[in-house]
Amino acid sequence: MPGNRGEDDGRGSGDDTLTLRERTPDSPWAAFARLMEGNEPMTSGTPLIVVLGHQRCGAVKAAYKALKEGKPLPGNLRSIAEALRPAYAVVSKEKHADPVDAMVRVHIEQTSADLRSNADLAPLVKKGDLAVVSAYCSLDTGRVEVLTGAPSA
Ligand SMILES: [Zn+2]
Repeated sequence: MPGNRGEDDGRGSGDDTLTLRERTPDSPWAAFARLMEGNEPMTSGTPLIVVLGHQRCGAVKAAYKALKEGKPLPGNLRSIAEALRPAYAVVSKEKHADPVDAMVRVHIEQTSADLRSNADLAPLVKKGDLAVVSAYCSLDTGRVEVLTGAPSA
């Protein structure tokens, strides 16, 4: 049902049934949402996927604490902690001045590596038609640091 809630981003109505793609047709986020909706396979010409993590992530911090203490998080935070378990496994074996920050970085790298080795995406990455880049955003400086996967050219 169409409706306008007074939220106008300059791109059309505030219809809450619109998909993310329709709300912001030009944004990278819209492209990603489209992929996730399954309307188009990730193999349909997307040239770049950026897995971007950020400094002082509250979700990673909560997951780190939960995994360290062996206490499950409530509700849907539990799935976040589970998704971060592989990164925790790496970080907990090493000594880090800031283990949460290390876990952010490891998780970004693991996620991008998973995408790069995905059965559908790996051939595109190999051909150079798709880059999967992991990047870390510093909230202190606003800078984005590319960690892995930058195309060499
Ligand atoms: Zn975060």
